[in-house]
Amino acid sequence: MPFLGAHLSIKGGLHNVEKQCDYLGCDTFQIFAKNQLRWESRPLNPKEISTFKEFVQTKNIEKFVVHASYLLNLASINSDIREKSIKSLKEELKRADDIGASYLVLHPGSPKRKNSTKDGIKNVIDALCKAQNAVHLENVKIAVENTAGGGNLVGRNLHELLSIVEGVEKCGFEIGVCIDTAHAFESGYTLDARFIDEMHTLFKSRIFVFHINDSLTEKGSKRDRHANIGDGLIPTEFFKLLLNDKRFQKVPFILETPGGLEKFKKDLKTLRSMIL
Ligand SMILES: [Zn+2]
Repeated sequence: MPFLGAHLSIKGGLHNVEKQCDYLGCDTFQIFAKNQLRWESRPLNPKEISTFKEFVQTKNIEKFVVHASYLLNLASINSDIREKSIKSLKEELKRADDIGASYLVLHPGSPKRKNSTKDGIKNVIDALCKAQNAVHLENVKIAVENTAGGGNLVGRNLHELLSIVEGVEKCGFEIGVCIDTAHAFESGYTLDARFIDEMHTLFKSRIFVFHINDSLTEKGSKRDRHANIGDGLIPTEFFKLLLNDKRFQKVPFILETPGGLEKFKKDLKTLRSMIL
């Protein structure tokens, strides 16, 4: 069985994750480990961390995911922004590791200049190597997420993600990817059995996380608008294939769909009903 869960809120503190998880009956979850719109954050206190870890253990949650701040831009051609992003990434990695997360999901960012994908990818590799060299991590691994393909964002297709993964592996780190189904569709992929095979051929066990979202915008729109499962334009058959694929057992499938807890509950029910 795949692990199913959703992106939960840490508003009010880490202890609020447990209630949401109980309500949803989730096997896994994703959180921001800090305010995702701010560079600075208050340190977590040891009691907060130990209570949180206890909950994860008692609920038998084997893997959970932290999503890095949207402010990070590791691909930037501006060295000040890159340095700031690397500093913040180091803190995020440490924080995710301290609370026992398996993966830190991040967006590669954008060089913010046309025809600069190559430079952008090089910057991302360099930044990911630097940050990981600087911190000692027990458990957490980085998962780079694909984008919907708008603007000059790096990671708009599987091959760009693979270049990043292979570059970082050369500095000796284990790294993988997070595939967002809505972003894949919006960036132009036909979501079917062939896409699943392509993904698996390229990444194998380096597929660390799925963001399982339907898409409000059409295939190739390059516009990132998530929809609840079944309310968007991604063929339901695709979700069924993915959930039942034995190659992705024990991979966290995380919902990032709109509408809050009620809708998550409905989406999880829909997804569970597809598992044969
Ligand atoms: Zn996502």
